Amino acid sequence: MIAPFVFARNPAIQFGSGKISGLPKAVKAYGRQVLIVTGAASFIKSKTWEKLQDDFSNNGITWDHYTIDKEPSPSLVDECVKNFQEKNIEVVVAIGGGSVLDAGKAISAMLRENASVQLFLEGVGTRTHSGNKVPFIAVPTTSGTGSEATKNAVLSEVGEQGFKKSLRHDNFVPDLAIIDPDLTLSCPKHITAYTGMDAFTQLLESFLSTNANPMTDSLAIEGLNRISASLVNCYENGNTDIEARTDMAYASLISGITLANAGLGTVHGFASTIGGYFDIPHGVICSALMGPVNNITVKSLQQKDPHHIALQKYAKVGKMFAKEKNKSDAYYIEFIVTQIDELTKRLEIPALSAFNLTSKDIDRIVTGSDNKNNPVKLSPEQMAEALEMAL
Ligand code: NAD
Repeated sequence: MIAPFVFARNPAIQFGSGKISGLPKAVKAYGRQVLIVTGAASFIKSKTWEKLQDDFSNNGITWDHYTIDKEPSPSLVDECVKNFQEKNIEVVVAIGGGSVLDAGKAISAMLRENASVQLFLEGVGTRTHSGNKVPFIAVPTTSGTGSEATKNAVLSEVGEQGFKKSLRHDNFVPDLAIIDPDLTLSCPKHITAYTGMDAFTQLLESFLSTNANPMTDSLAIEGLNRISASLVNCYENGNTDIEARTDMAYASLISGITLANAGLGTVHGFASTIGGYFDIPHGVICSALMGPVNNITVKSLQQKDPHHIALQKYAKVGKMFAKEKNKSDAYYIEFIVTQIDELTKRLEIPALSAFNLTSKDIDRIVTGSDNKNNPVKLSPEQMAEALEMAL
């Protein structure tokens, strides 16, 4: 029998090669005064940006432009809101990686508030957001975070007392997500690698989550199939292989929907804690921890509960990635755990020690991290072991 579940709202979605050309028309559905948030480099040097500006002008759209060049902090969001609050912005459009999308999402949420965003951050602030926001359009240029489909924006303050926390409300799901895989063709190899592994982790963690439901499962399976077909091709031929880029853009979108509805596991539990202490790209943290955490999770499940549904799910994913057919579940479970390690090597994911994270940091990271919806609760010793393996 299907257990009761809830499935939250999704954005309206325009998906496919060339869809960016529909942005001016989409903007006009909300108004003619737009704030565009982008990254600081690749997109604004592109022909697409040149053409978009012409199209905006031809459609009578007036725009302000704000650039960000790192994962967003509360002060960055506050500064932008201060600059544009008086301007009667009718719609915010974010075009970029997860950092830009989250910045745009938070800015759209704060333009109608008269307070610092930090006051509304989970686990940091004390206030609850009303959900009143300026309409928001998300246009991803990486395939990794799925932020175009989620209701949270992740903001961080990096340092000894640092944090990485979410601003979250059902209303913050973007009103529209335009996912055009053409925009990801310019992603360099290392970014393709770690963002692709981030989407893989999000799909796998939400598939294995204790909070998964039949809808998130069917979506996660489809997303994982795309990852198995196209992650490596995207890494090898990412500047030209639009089919692989399209698969990964789809997988990333789906990962946002599944994470928003099923939750995530221990890898992401670690990622928020580490991201508060260290300036390490989010995708790198997730990629480096994916192998160790899954290795230990599988061993723990096999010892504690060999018939656990999560082991059947691991076998299912192993089958997707394996060329060999008609093998046992045990074979496919071993296969997927090994495959994740091999992908980490093939995609040249750096170890966390490359960012000055050392054994001395392990205790405080374990203390600050939770198991979230991991299929088996890992002990502090197991969590420390996973971190040690990722160094
Ligand atoms: P990113 O947005 O930080 O981008 C990484 C780098 O890639 C940047 O230097 C950027 O300029 C560059 N880049 C982006 N698109 C490019 C392109 N098409 N061509 C060339 N360069 C390009 O990385 P990300 O992994 O996409 O996002 C990470 C952020 O997303 C983190 O802050 C993380 O916490 C957050 N996140 C949010 C959610 C959510 O649901 N809101 C989920 C997962 C992660």
